[in-house]
Amino acid sequence: MNKIRIGILGYGNLGRGVEQGILQNKDMELVGVFTRRNPIDIQLTTKDAKAYHIKDAKEMTDIIDVMILCGGSKSDLPTQGPEFAGLFNTVDGFDTHANIPQYYDAVNDSALKAKKTAVIASGWDPGMFSLNRLYAEAILPKGKGYTFWGKGVSQGHSDAIRRIEGVADAKQYTIPIEEAMDRVRKGELPDFTPRQKHLRECFVVAEDGADLNRIENEIKSMPNYFSDYDTIVHFISKEELEKNHSKMPHGGVVIHSGKTGLNDENNHLIEYSIKLDANPDFTANVLLAYARAVYRLNKEGIYGAKTVFDIAPAYLSIKSNEELRRTLL
Ligand code: NDP
Repeated sequence: MNKIRIGILGYGNLGRGVEQGILQNKDMELVGVFTRRNPIDIQLTTKDAKAYHIKDAKEMTDIIDVMILCGGSKSDLPTQGPEFAGLFNTVDGFDTHANIPQYYDAVNDSALKAKKTAVIASGWDPGMFSLNRLYAEAILPKGKGYTFWGKGVSQGHSDAIRRIEGVADAKQYTIPIEEAMDRVRKGELPDFTPRQKHLRECFVVAEDGADLNRIENEIKSMPNYFSDYDTIVHFISKEELEKNHSKMPHGGVVIHSGKTGLNDENNHLIEYSIKLDANPDFTANVLLAYARAVYRLNKEGIYGAKTVFDIAPAYLSIKSNEELRRTLL
């Protein structure tokens, strides 16, 4: 079997997760990792692969089938996505939900011109959660969908706390509110405010002599991030943060509650739940399944940007369609 030759662009948490994930997919192999940093400083765990400077990627279009874009959604992907979709088949986990339509257009333009295929915004949210929202809404049109996140670490909220003066380090956990989930599971169709759905718990390491009251107030009143939520702030030592909060767990649940029957007498509940010890590893594995799809679609002459909505599930699987019909249908 010819293996799918994978490149990784950007070597952070997600890039490292993709490197590990390739080992679990026997139809894939890692060619190289591309970084903006000095490649000498990048220590890969894969023996036969090499780290390269990002500027060398364009010389390697013949030996990489799919480039997995692992840059940050805020400032890396908006430029790297369209640029690299003009050189390679790509997959990314772009997760700035509000900007997905513009990002799609930019990547689609580049990919179409270069006859490449690009899956954007895969991962778990957007990604697997989006798919489950769509399936549920299509099946139970008379109903309502809810997404609860956590308990898990939100990188964006942790970063926002770290930017406050006097903060040395921080981790923020998003926690779903059980009573709200119970109401949805009982078949009620409530409208929630952000505060009614999630709680935010912060573990903060302050710099020596910092004003803790001011830091706490700045966190709790931060617009968009914390002011619409009940927020708990704990000040802890650097050692405690490293010991108890160094992992990146996450997860969540998509719940759709719907009704059928002439008088809406039948309630139906669909739930898709994930509990992740390591968010980047799981996200990486979703990206790899979509790398397989991108590779196959491109071979079939299907070009341009795609989202998880556009791709039939069989394209994700290493199994043949015949085997899928026999084993999973
Ligand atoms: P990181 O901050 O770890 O990495 C982002 C980029 O920063 C890397 O590609 C790397 O680029 C650079 N970088 C990483 N470490 C260092 C370092 N020590 N010094 C200097 N530069 C560094 O982000 P994550 O990998 O955790 O996440 C990437 C994106 O994945 C997130 O922005 C998020 O949007 C998305 N995501 C999507 C999910 C989904 O469900 N759709 C779920 C989880 C994440 P370079 O090698 O070029 O320097």
